[in-house]
Amino acid sequence: MADLKILLSEKELPDRWYNVQADMPNLPKPPLHPVTREPVGPQDLAPIFPTDLILQEVSRERWIDIPDEVRDIYRLWRPSPLHRARRLEKALDTPARIYYKYEGVSPAGSHKLNTAVPQAYYNKKAGVRRLATETGAGQWGAALAQACSFFGLDCTVYMVKVSYHQKPYRRSVMQIFGSEVFASPTDRTASGRAVLAGNPDSPGSLGIAISEAVEDAATHADTNYALGSVLNHVLIHQSVIGLEAKKQMEKAGDYPDVVIACCGGGSNLGGIAMPFAHDRLVEDRKIRLVAAEPSACPTLTRGLCAYDFGDVAGLTPLLWMYTLGKDFMPPGIHAGGLRYHGDSPLVSRMVADGIMEARAYGQTDVFESAVVFARSEGVIPAPEAAHAIHCAVEEALAAREAGTPRVILFNLSGHGLLDLASYDAFLGGRLEDYALPEEQLGEAMAKLPAVE
Ligand SMILES: *Cc1c(COP(=O)(O)O)cnc(C)c1O
Repeated sequence: MADLKILLSEKELPDRWYNVQADMPNLPKPPLHPVTREPVGPQDLAPIFPTDLILQEVSRERWIDIPDEVRDIYRLWRPSPLHRARRLEKALDTPARIYYKYEGVSPAGSHKLNTAVPQAYYNKKAGVRRLATETGAGQWGAALAQACSFFGLDCTVYMVKVSYHQKPYRRSVMQIFGSEVFASPTDRTASGRAVLAGNPDSPGSLGIAISEAVEDAATHADTNYALGSVLNHVLIHQSVIGLEAKKQMEKAGDYPDVVIACCGGGSNLGGIAMPFAHDRLVEDRKIRLVAAEPSACPTLTRGLCAYDFGDVAGLTPLLWMYTLGKDFMPPGIHAGGLRYHGDSPLVSRMVADGIMEARAYGQTDVFESAVVFARSEGVIPAPEAAHAIHCAVEEALAAREAGTPRVILFNLSGHGLLDLASYDAFLGGRLEDYALPEEQLGEAMAKLPAVE
């Protein structure tokens, strides 16, 4: 019987990241300056990002060296394991072979540390003293807090208020690593005060918290901003997931028919899928790439591909991406990491070009699959990652229906041990599915910024 766990040695840790921009038939349209609406240049980004990351953002190089200082920290948990989910296959009675790459082994509990570490490193190298960022459910804030403590940087986190109260333990994690954490909207920034003036009880949103963090960075010379998803350099850093997975599939003597990941801003999806997209784009291999998103925040399946702001106040460059409109207020579903109005421009381009598919699922179905997975494989998945599991289950059942084998690879982006309140809600029958009527969806999209 084949191995259940396919491991790589430390020596097999990739020494270069992969940049899919080198191989895409079409690139996304360029980001535009929020005021002039002209393409942004490096000088526009310099107040909030270090040069190394700006260069990666616009790089067309296929391979980018991973600095030794970053690899030294990656080695704390990387290479991460690839598992053959034999017990899940059995539970589903499927002829499919299911593999999953497990990113929950990182000390932060998710894939987010793969980019937090290089972002902290390049900022430290550039002489920055402090990083400001936002966090939704808290995974990104926790990862950046940890990375900043590795490199001796201060860290300020604007945490979406509803999560600040719902997920107190993620806040504790950030504080253990020395970060200061504020419930957003705050009265520390003009963007926060503007929101509070309109609604003192605002539960906050990622878009609002991003405005606050960007403003903090732009108004303090010693402070930069860090984003945990969406941007090209983030997807480049996350490619380490897919590069390892390719070597591991090769060791297993298998190759995926379909690669699946959940999609909030697109970073863990880009991370696992882009190195396989290379095979499809350059070597013409038949492989499907699938994004799984919540039906309560259906950016790729029901949004528009257009220019939009990354934040609510309109401080960020306009990104060409699938969006539900920056003012879209997603329902309070339990996969907080998937409640973002926009998406990575690279993922958006690939979906628009038919290179990637997208599917949307309701949270009760997703949690059902999460529990099946937990009971067979023994890992309690993050609610975000459970969307990928549900999609993999759907593929495995389709293989059973068709009576043909199928090789499924999905990314298990994190564990759910700090999300047990969500599981309580599911087990207690208190989880709601939200049908989003077309009118409600259209409202925020009707207000997209006009661009020539
Ligand atoms: C943040 C997060 C996500 C969603 O972000 P992406 O950028 O789309 O990957 C998914 N899973 C986990 C565990 C997360 O922490």
